[in-house]
Amino acid sequence: MSARVLVIEDELPLAEMLQYNLEAEGFRVSHAETGEDAEILVAEEEPDLIILDWMLPQVSGIELCRRLRSRPDTRAIPILMLTARGEESDRIRGLSTGADDYVVKPFSLPELMARVKAILRRVAPDRVADVLKVSDVELDRSAHRVTRGPREVRLGPTEFRLLEFFMESPGRVLSRTQLLDGVWGRDAFVDERTVDVHIGRLRKAIVRGKERDPIRTVRGAGYVFGEREAR
Ligand code: CA
Repeated sequence: MSARVLVIEDELPLAEMLQYNLEAEGFRVSHAETGEDAEILVAEEEPDLIILDWMLPQVSGIELCRRLRSRPDTRAIPILMLTARGEESDRIRGLSTGADDYVVKPFSLPELMARVKAILRRVAPDRVADVLKVSDVELDRSAHRVTRGPREVRLGPTEFRLLEFFMESPGRVLSRTQLLDGVWGRDAFVDERTVDVHIGRLRKAIVRGKERDPIRTVRGAGYVFGEREAR
């Protein structure tokens, strides 16, 4: 599971607990303490899901939710609200502001995880599916196994992650910067030539004999994986 989750919560112990447990499930997690920081992170990281606390200093969770929903670039990001208020009117208000779901504090962690996964299965199934399949290439996240047709493909950890990232967005051109961020992480000290080196290794492992190369280099733009055969 490689979905990006942004946790917006000013209670640090709770935020850390959420981050720790989401990362243990394989999510890539970032954290903001205030609505202002959150708006910057949302733009930078393009999260697949936001966990948003209702009670935040300055800009409240409700207000932030309203802002995110009003902007075309953030409108579609699912939001799970955390709220300490149990009253029905507040819950309805939260949902009518545009939250996809809510959890009342104190919540049970398994319940929160189940809700997170349920939302992601709905909006970003490729980010949570155990098995990704693009034409004859199949990647099993939980077994950490890749096959092409009947043949098993052996990959190093970086090539595996690279293929996984490609298979989450088949047919889409990904720039070297997007690949760097997605595979190595934003803070990694890796240059763009490293991407080319690992693409080369991935190609070598995945293409045997006369097999079609599922990765196409797009000059000046990046790489695209798994386009339709007939172009
Ligand atoms: Ca709070």
